[in-house]
Amino acid sequence: MKRILSIVLAAVMLCSTALVFTACGGASSEKKELHMATNAYFEPYEYYKGKEIVGIDAEIAKAICDKLGYELVIDDMEFDSIITAVTSGKADFGMAGMTVTEERKQSVDFTDSYTTATQVIIVSEKDSKVKNSDDLETATIGVQLGTTGDLYVSDLKKAKVERFNKGGDAVLALTQGKVDAVVIDNEPAKAFVKANKGIKILDEPFEKEDYAICLAKNSELTEKINGALKELKADGTIKKIVDKYING
Ligand code: GLN
Repeated sequence: MKRILSIVLAAVMLCSTALVFTACGGASSEKKELHMATNAYFEPYEYYKGKEIVGIDAEIAKAICDKLGYELVIDDMEFDSIITAVTSGKADFGMAGMTVTEERKQSVDFTDSYTTATQVIIVSEKDSKVKNSDDLETATIGVQLGTTGDLYVSDLKKAKVERFNKGGDAVLALTQGKVDAVVIDNEPAKAFVKANKGIKILDEPFEKEDYAICLAKNSELTEKINGALKELKADGTIKKIVDKYING
């Protein structure tokens, strides 16, 4: 009797173990979420509306995930941490108004570009010592750490560069007179100027930059996202999202 019982028990245990394994295997083999690494202080591309992260990038990412059958999870972090999050596999992709650069291409792959931007200079409305880009040469300039703005001003030998974790902190320093100018992407610049009194954008854009999504090198996702992007461009979704946030 005892022996029969133990055989039955062993069989039950084996069965349930098998069940557990199947369940786990099933869950892990179909990945339901895609994690997007971003820095959500970059209106109109990604910013908080209450507790929710909204913006052009957030909406395009959502549209891509809908197409590919994934749930989008947005992970907010410092801009400077996004590439590491992607290369270490902590995030599936990075999307943060991120400019395609040769240097970044050494560590990540980029999708096709979904929009373009330029760097601009923000200064005080009154008595600014920076009146054009030449004046940057001898100014104290605020930038967001690790951005293309940072890269650009780092080439100016005589300029003093103050690096901040958030673009908003650089702008705050400008309003407090701690820096003479801020170099940052054009659309976030407009949002900052709108939100802060006494600052303006100089009418002197830099080179055009391409924004794209970054992924770990040779990720299978890159091709899938490019496919989704292509469709979203063709059917006017991308333009609709960009227009919603930029042109009203
Ligand atoms: N476009 C800039 C870059 O890629 C800034 C991006 C950002 O601050 N989110 O460096």
